[in-house]
Amino acid sequence: MTTVNGKAETVIKNANIITIDDGRPKAQALAMTHGRFSGVGSNEDIEGLIGPDTEVLDLGGKTVLPGFIDAHIHVLSSGVKHVMSADCDVRSLKQVQAGLKERADKTPAGEWVQGFKFDDTKTDRTASNEGRHLYRDDLDAVTTDHPMMVAHRAGHVFYMNTAGLEAAGFNDETPDPPGGRLGRDPDTGKLNGMVYERAIDHVRFGLIPVDTAEVRREGLRTICGMLNRVGLTSVHDARVTTEEFQTYQDGYAAGELSLRVYALMWYPQFPALRDAGIRSGLGDDRLRIGGIKMVADGAIATRTAYLSQPYEGSTCDHGILAMEQEEIEQQVMDMHRAGFQVCIHANGDLTIDLVLTAYEKAQKAHPRANTRHRIEHCTLVNPELLARMKAMGVIATPFCTYVYHHGEKMRYYGEQRLEWMFAQRSFIDSGVVSTGATDYPPGPFEPLLGVQSCVTRTDSTGKEWGVNQRISVEEALRLYTLNGAYASFEEETKGSIEVGKLADLVVLGSDPTQIDPLSIKDIQVEQTIVGGDTVYQG
Ligand SMILES: [Zn+2]
Repeated sequence: MTTVNGKAETVIKNANIITIDDGRPKAQALAMTHGRFSGVGSNEDIEGLIGPDTEVLDLGGKTVLPGFIDAHIHVLSSGVKHVMSADCDVRSLKQVQAGLKERADKTPAGEWVQGFKFDDTKTDRTASNEGRHLYRDDLDAVTTDHPMMVAHRAGHVFYMNTAGLEAAGFNDETPDPPGGRLGRDPDTGKLNGMVYERAIDHVRFGLIPVDTAEVRREGLRTICGMLNRVGLTSVHDARVTTEEFQTYQDGYAAGELSLRVYALMWYPQFPALRDAGIRSGLGDDRLRIGGIKMVADGAIATRTAYLSQPYEGSTCDHGILAMEQEEIEQQVMDMHRAGFQVCIHANGDLTIDLVLTAYEKAQKAHPRANTRHRIEHCTLVNPELLARMKAMGVIATPFCTYVYHHGEKMRYYGEQRLEWMFAQRSFIDSGVVSTGATDYPPGPFEPLLGVQSCVTRTDSTGKEWGVNQRISVEEALRLYTLNGAYASFEEETKGSIEVGKLADLVVLGSDPTQIDPLSIKDIQVEQTIVGGDTVYQG
């Protein structure tokens, strides 16, 4: 055991500590001082660190893990949505309507009411008149006094009531706007309230109220609380704007930032950051400038990832490439040269190939040690791509909660393709560092759900998808801790319970390595500690 001088501020004893430290995988007790672990070992080892002022927590055998790290999650923008919109991720249309009604009742007549995270496949499909999209009649039943817009969980589809359609300038005679479409009743041809893709843009970016600094601050407090409750102590915010970074700094200064944030800066800010002499890593243990984020193709949940083989049931639908190869290569070259970690969203195998080529060319032209460039999501891989990732030290941040949560969408990819999707087993076996990540809001953010999904590859109905990619519970826990720290160059300071590291931990009601893997998601998070401070207590 190693200790620091003096007594500890807090000691945890009689615990089942899974350290994620290969040198000492298990421990019984730990000590925390000045926000860091000051001792790890047996109860006897730590006894000497207990002084008259030490707070001693006897956990009675409960499990302790390093705090969870989500390496790709939309943190602040989600917090803002939770403040401004009704959460429509509920199991019946009645509950959707009730949530929207609650908002409407608090909103002055004539002002917008918003909802988000509605998923047509997630209301009870066995009930009559459920498991379908929302229509204007459903929303008119909530309110006719407010224009209303509800976003689908995956984006791309929106639902409006009659007042909303009128405010948007849509009527039955309106032709489909460019880049989008208006849903119509197949019998009458009248608008049904559904609005697709870019047809909604003038509403989203022009009509509905924009967030303010105050709303963003409230959003930050909201999301920090939500994420601490499930055991998250660190997050990589996967798309941070100028305004959001200001809010992070304000919240940090006010002592409200109860998560450690590694900010992946949205790429339009790259030139200003570069010209100011900033590189990845500037900041401190609580708030840091991370990589630069770009998006190179579509999404898995909406079937727009750019694939070499077409989607199941189609002979020509390969998805969407959002950036041209030349543009990817030029941007990567500039960001790589300027000392940034580059983080490009690429789901499909063709896109991953293009991004790797860009990374390889940049590295060849301007060799840099320890770049840790990332492929965000990195969903569909093959042995050739894995070998190139390993050779370059490229990190993958796959969706960890999709198999469980989005099982009903997996059939568009097919059983065989699933054997190479969210390929955690292949990443580990190939020596590629991959992380725990959820991309919330598209995927649920609970880390233990992510662990279960990666371990079982079983969806919420019990169907298995690509079981060859299963990993052990221990491996999944490592993705969500130490590997997340590695992806932000912070494996020396967090991600495992070792003396000298940041005192971030989570206390669980049971040991995920000792129970039925299909019930890992139900384990209670009892306490979350960040830097020695309790930020959540169940
Ligand atoms: Zn994302």
